This record gives sequence, structure tokens and C-alpha cells, in this order.
Amino acid sequence: MTTIKGPYYADVVVPCFNEEEALPETAPVILDFFRTLVADRSNRLTGFRLILVNDGSSDGTWSLIERLCAANPEVEGVMLSRNFGHQSAMLAGLTIADADVILTMDADLQDDIEAVRGMISAYEDGAHLALGVRNDRSSDGRGKSGSANAYYRLLSALGIRIIENHADFRLMSRTALAALLQYREVNLFLRGLIPTLGFPVTLVPYARKPRTAGETKYTLRKMLRLALDGITSFTVMPLRIIAATGAVIFLGTILASLFFLYVYFAHSSDIVPGWASTVLPMLFLGGVQLLSIGVLGEYVGKIYLETKRRPRFIIQETTSEALDANVRAEIEKAEAA
Ligand code: UDP
Ligand code: MG
Repeated sequence: MTTIKGPYYADVVVPCFNEEEALPETAPVILDFFRTLVADRSNRLTGFRLILVNDGSSDGTWSLIERLCAANPEVEGVMLSRNFGHQSAMLAGLTIADADVILTMDADLQDDIEAVRGMISAYEDGAHLALGVRNDRSSDGRGKSGSANAYYRLLSALGIRIIENHADFRLMSRTALAALLQYREVNLFLRGLIPTLGFPVTLVPYARKPRTAGETKYTLRKMLRLALDGITSFTVMPLRIIAATGAVIFLGTILASLFFLYVYFAHSSDIVPGWASTVLPMLFLGGVQLLSIGVLGEYVGKIYLETKRRPRFIIQETTSEALDANVRAEIEKAEAA
């Protein structure tokens, strides 16, 4: 592994959706933390920029971000034209970030910012990816951590490699980020893409804390959407399971038909056919078919969305010339492709 010799800069990307309650408390903490880190001579981090991405908030988040920018030279703001969702908001920030290392974290600081020290030193020791891993989810509540565990088991049963308890709290080297940005899919599940990148990875454990202020911005609907993306973006196993189920049912039907023929000829036709034996298979097959069509539809829908190659986020404005230039460069790249 190569180790970092020269000084380096960091971009810290924070997606914000209706965070007017949390940001006034968390932004100063993030700024203080990184200022201290820069001043600390035991690492070679020489500067940072805090990129706050406003993901179409309907509250005062953007004016708050503008005020933070005016008051702190390190803060930059990016405003998306509407709500694109956590993953896309993060991607927007990542796409226009250009420092040597790029960090992502949530606006509510549920993820212990002290873990960044471990990420920085992992980077200096040659890691291209330093991933925060929650080793204590008690603050998440039984429902959330229980469903997360069940979901991880489902993913691994389907053969999807994922780093358990790693959300989107991570450090990426410029090189690793460039590789990540080559993935052009519209349906983003960033944490699932990370293990497919390769590169030296370091896991940095930390305890997950309660939200600093405000309510969770992940509605059940958004969470289910993300969970489904996590599966359908990485495996066609559900389609195979459908095919296998279909084959088993088909075989079963042939065997049953043979059996019925046998009964019919061997015991004459005086047996009254049962109601249950007619209706139950019908309901069962109808159910299996509808479910299968639903799963197929999920994939077809995904193909439909991907082939349109629509932009994954739209930036309305930023607070700096430098970021504006990066946005323009990104648009030109997309037009050329
Ligand atoms: N977020 C976002 N767009 C959304 C939903 C959430 O940018 O549509 C941001 C939110 O502001 C926060 C992060 O994603 O910075 C994680 O959201 P939250 O803390 O509400 O999720 P939880 O921690 O409850 O899973
Ligand atoms: Mg949170």
C-alpha cells in the first residue's frame, strides 16, 4: 500500500432535506471538528470544504445554508431543483466535489463524527475507502435495527455482497470516487456499489447516536424504495426464483393430471369433483402469477427508467464560482456521452 506523503484537502458532502432544525446545531460541530483536524499537525489534512446539498427542502434550509456560507469561508451550498432523495442528493455533491478525499455524512450527525479521525488515518495509511460501520444501533429503535438485520440476511441469501451496518458515512479517495462516478445507473444504491469497486478498504466502527434535532426524513416509503433498489439493482435472483417456482408448479400439475386420469379410469366417474380442489389451485396459481408479474414489472420498470438516461439530479444553483464551473463541466460531459 502506498501511504500519503503530501498535504491534502477534503470535501465534506452533506445532503440536507428539511433540516432547518438540525443544521444550526450540527453545522458548527462539523466546522469545529474539521478546523481542529486541520490545525492538528499529527495528520496532513490541510484544508476542507463543507458542501451542503439542499435536496429540495420545503422549509428554510436553503436560506440557512446561504447564511452559513456567508459566515464561514469553508461552507458551500448546492441547491437541487426539487427533492431527488438522499442517494441522488449525495451523488450531486460527490459529482461536483474535487478535493483529494471526499467524505459523506448525514446532516443530523447521527453518525459519530469522531470516527472521521479513523477514516483520515486509514487514508493516510493507503486506504482508498474508509467506511463507517455502526457497532451499536440501540438508538435506532427495535423496529429499524430489526428490519435492517432481516434485510441484510435477505440480501446475503440472494447473493448480494454488502457491508453490514455501513450506511453512507464514508471517506473516498479521489480515485475511488472517480471509479464510483463511472456507474451511471439512475436507481442508486451507493452502499451496494462500494464493495464492487475494489480498492483497499478500511472499516471504521462507531456507535450510532440519536438524531440531533428534527424528525427522520426517511419516510417508510423512501426506505422501502431504497431496500427494493438494493435488491433489484444487484441481482436477478428473484426472476430465477419465479422461474423455478413456475417449473415446480408445472411439474406438479402434470403429476396431478396423471393422478386424476388414473382415478377417473380406475374408479369410474362416479366421484363428485370437490369444490376446494378446483378453486384452491386456481387461487394459488392466480396469486403466484400476479406476484411473478409484479416482480417482472419491477425489473422492466427499472429497465425503462435506466434506458431513458434521465439526469439523476438537477442543480439549480450553487454558492460558488468553483462549484458552478464543476456543474458546467459535468453537464458538458453528459451532453458528450
Ligand atoms: N435526506 C435527503 N433527501 C431525502 C431524505 C433525506 O437529502 O429525501 C438526508 C437528510 O437530510 C439527512 C440524511 O439524508 O441528512 C439521512 O436522513 P435521516 O437522518 O432523516 O434518515 P435516518 O437517519 O432516519 O435513516
Ligand atoms: Mg438520521
